[in-house]
Amino acid sequence: MLSEPDSPWVSRLCPSPNHGERKGGCGIDMLVLHYTGCPSCESALLWMLSPDAEVSAHYLVDEDGEIIQLVAEERRAWHAGLSCWAGETDVNSRSIGIEIQNAGHLEDPPPPYPEKQIAAVIALVEDIVRRHGIAPWRVVGHSDIAPDRKADPGEHFPWERLGKAGLCLHAPSAPLNLPGEMLKPGDSGPAVCALQRDLARLGYGLAETGDYDETTRAVVRAFQRRFRPARIDGLADSSTRETLKRALSRLASMRRVW
Ligand SMILES: [Zn+2]
Repeated sequence: MLSEPDSPWVSRLCPSPNHGERKGGCGIDMLVLHYTGCPSCESALLWMLSPDAEVSAHYLVDEDGEIIQLVAEERRAWHAGLSCWAGETDVNSRSIGIEIQNAGHLEDPPPPYPEKQIAAVIALVEDIVRRHGIAPWRVVGHSDIAPDRKADPGEHFPWERLGKAGLCLHAPSAPLNLPGEMLKPGDSGPAVCALQRDLARLGYGLAETGDYDETTRAVVRAFQRRFRPARIDGLADSSTRETLKRALSRLASMRRVW
């Protein structure tokens, strides 16, 4: 089924048995980035090639920039799990998944992504979004679509590099410790509603309940990991909310020219 690579950047094919039919006929309109969370690329590969694991991704990018393809793009790889983005819950059926070799939060702090690896990720993402016409605001991290379960690709992933290449939504972080009111777990009311609405407008799976519950905190944490990585605490301080405003205005301007 995977007889030739879908991208010219692939140097090796290692077909995984862990895939199925794409459902819903919606086409491919999302791209999800992951870290492997494994100590080495070999261990990540073994895991994704094992039928027992029931996990896979379309691509795996090693630390030296080598790109391995495991699942044909036309097939539904099993990388997203229980997830939600912009109201869609079957993310696997409409996305391409890229695993990036990095031990992630197995280490404290997580190890940096080498330059060669990031250059390879950018080239691969560029190729995939061009071929499928994927909008930059639908290029997301696993933590964005499963905020209560996942932390990858992590706050150490250089989203600003992808943003500068026009491949994902990115906005500069507001400075920490801006003066102003903080919203936090236990709070409720119209300000919490507005916060939830704004996060949902970016794509996060969050209902407008008006209660700052654990789900809200997990989504705020995911937003911080991606857009304001200097502090990840799930508290909507002024800096977080100002960064959210910047991201929404960037999204609006990207949509205008898309
Ligand atoms: Zn993941």
